[in-house]
Amino acid sequence: MALPRTIAIDGPASSGKSSVSFAVAQDLHYLFVDTGAFYRGVTLAAIRAELTNAHEAALVALAEHCTLDITPDLDTDGRQYTLLLDSEDVTWEIRQPSVESHVSRIAAVGGVREVLNRKYRTLAEHGCVIMVGRDIGTVVLPNADLKIYLDASVEARATRRSLQRVAAGEQADYDEILAAMRQRDALDSQRAVAPLTQAADAHYLDTSHLDVDGVIKAIKQLIVA
Ligand code: C5P
Repeated sequence: MALPRTIAIDGPASSGKSSVSFAVAQDLHYLFVDTGAFYRGVTLAAIRAELTNAHEAALVALAEHCTLDITPDLDTDGRQYTLLLDSEDVTWEIRQPSVESHVSRIAAVGGVREVLNRKYRTLAEHGCVIMVGRDIGTVVLPNADLKIYLDASVEARATRRSLQRVAAGEQADYDEILAAMRQRDALDSQRAVAPLTQAADAHYLDTSHLDVDGVIKAIKQLIVA
C-alpha cells in the first residue's frame, strides 16, 4: 500500500500539531518540518537586530539574509528537531514568550512568507515529509497527498500550553496564556496573506477531548485509509 508522499497538517497554536506530527514522522521515518519554527527563527533574528517594528522591506531582507536550517538531530532534552539560525542552535530560544509575542506580526509580512515558502517547498521536494503550520494545505503544498486540519477549543489549547510551561519549570498564568492565544489566533486567521484556514480537501479533526495517543491514532487511520 502506498503511503502519502507529502502530508500537510495545519491548525491553530497548541492544537497538538507538533507533538503528534513528530511522533507520526518518527514512526514512518518521514522528515518532520515544523514551519512555525522558521517564523520564530526570523522573529528571533529581528529581535536581536532590533527590527521588530521595522518596515516590510527590512524584515524581508532579514529573512533573506539569515540562514535557517532544520535538522532531525535530536538531543536528550525533549526536542523534536534542531533549528539553526546562522549555525547557532536556537531550538529552545525560539520558544520564549518574547518571540511568541512578535511572531504573528512578522509572519503576516507577505515578503517574509515568500522567502520561507521557497525553503519549505525545497524541503518537501523529495517526499516522505510531514509539514506542519497554518497554510501548508492551502498555500505551501496545495497538492499535498494528505491534508489534515487539527483544531481544539481555545480553552483546551491554553490549558495544554500552561501544562507544557509548568512541565518545563516555567511560570504559567492561565489567563495570560489564554489572552495571548486569542490574540495570536485573531492575527493568524484575520491576516490578509495566507490566513489560517482549513483547505477544502483537508480532513478535520477536533482534538479538544483527545489525548496525544488518540490524535496519533486518528492521524494514522487517515494515512492508511
Ligand atoms: O506553530 P507555531 O505556534 O510555532 O507558529 C508560530 C507562529 O508562526 C504562528 O502563530 C503564526 O503566526 C506563524 N506561522 C504561520 N504560518 C505557518 C506556521 C506558523 O503564519 N505555516
